[in-house]
Amino acid sequence: MHFDPLTLMLPSAFVLLFAGIMSSCGYYRLRGEKALLWWSAASLLNALSVSLLIMGTAWGEEALLAAGSCISTVAAPLYWAGIRGFNGRKAPAAVLASGIAAWVATTLLLQFAGQDPKFGPMIVSLAVWPVFAVASMAELWSTRNNGLVYRWPLIGFLALHGFAYLGGIHDAINGYFAIGAAPPLLSWFGMVHFDTIVFAMGGTTALVLMARERHEQTSIEAANIDPLTGAANRRILFDGAERLHQRCSETNSPLSVVMFDLDHFKRINDTLGHKAGDKVIRGFADVMRSFLRANDLFGRYGGEEFVLILPNVSTKAAYAIADRARHAFSKSYSHLDGHPIGMTVSAGVALAAPDNTLDTALAAADTAMYAAKQAGRNRVMCAGSALSGSEDNIVRIA
Ligand code: GH3
Ligand code: MG
Ligand code: MG
Repeated sequence: MHFDPLTLMLPSAFVLLFAGIMSSCGYYRLRGEKALLWWSAASLLNALSVSLLIMGTAWGEEALLAAGSCISTVAAPLYWAGIRGFNGRKAPAAVLASGIAAWVATTLLLQFAGQDPKFGPMIVSLAVWPVFAVASMAELWSTRNNGLVYRWPLIGFLALHGFAYLGGIHDAINGYFAIGAAPPLLSWFGMVHFDTIVFAMGGTTALVLMARERHEQTSIEAANIDPLTGAANRRILFDGAERLHQRCSETNSPLSVVMFDLDHFKRINDTLGHKAGDKVIRGFADVMRSFLRANDLFGRYGGEEFVLILPNVSTKAAYAIADRARHAFSKSYSHLDGHPIGMTVSAGVALAAPDNTLDTALAAADTAMYAAKQAGRNRVMCAGSALSGSEDNIVRIA
């Protein structure tokens, strides 16, 4: 079996063209994911570069070879710009132009010195790839904790890509192939023939899937998280509470629920406006977060009402947690932007597991919270053990 390097470059150009089109489609589908647009531009330029190299090699046209190698110094940083854009970071124009600037400078310098102006620029056109592959890998590594698993194959494809071009530099420096000829298949640089296809298909697929992964992540978050406070919304709050209730009932452990309602909150809206009101609601959620343990569930029930679900916590301990939160909130929000607002919160505590259903406990916590309001607000009250929901069963644990 005999592989012809030049014939292998042809599918490379087509696959790069295909990768460019697929990235554009991905951009259109996942609107706003600019990384895919950069990646598309990089792939299309790379396709053009490979096509020019094919033609230059086939016809022995030095100008086409020079144009192909020059264009590849623009394509390489564009891939990096895509990865950087994915992380929400801009790619400075000076860095994007650094490859072509080095290529032009090397060409001019060699011409000026009366030396052969082919070798130096070729090394530059090879060197940009490992440089920007490493920079892209570093960019992906810096956000490795955001839960997107397709970053790992993408890092792998970038590593392979950078490695293939390092092989090219090695072979070129050692004079293993003639300039203007396609590198022989059985050489370090020969890997480039295969790498271009693997990188174009694998890298593009990994990036598109990673963008899709993030899109899904954002949609799930939007469906589960209250946008104003970042707390769980009603849906996820009650789903999670059911799960925790079941787990605690099975292990015969206590599960406490706390219902919070800000006191005289309407006054803030009426006197300082809704923006100030939003700030206070967000502020309450921030204060609460500082009291949460990993397994606690905190959510916005609606308006200025919040629910806290505390697994493995007795009502007495839940009371203490709620009271500390109440205290911290009134301390943090006695003033807002210089205005005295004296914000406080009332709360009701009830035991859900192991003895009561979640609905019964929530109703009892609600009743206890209203009892706290009637008793003068700015306090926490516990529901009685019978949990009938009537105020007769409300007792205050001091
Ligand atoms: P109480 O002490 O009896 O709870 O009095 P209150 O004024 O807090 O009670 P009420 O339930 O009458 O008022 C709640 C107000 O919260 C009414 C509503 O306009 C306001 N509200 C609900 N959601 C939001 C929100 O997202 N942002 C703002 N700024 N206000 C909200
Ligand atoms: Mg309310
Ligand atoms: Mg209120």
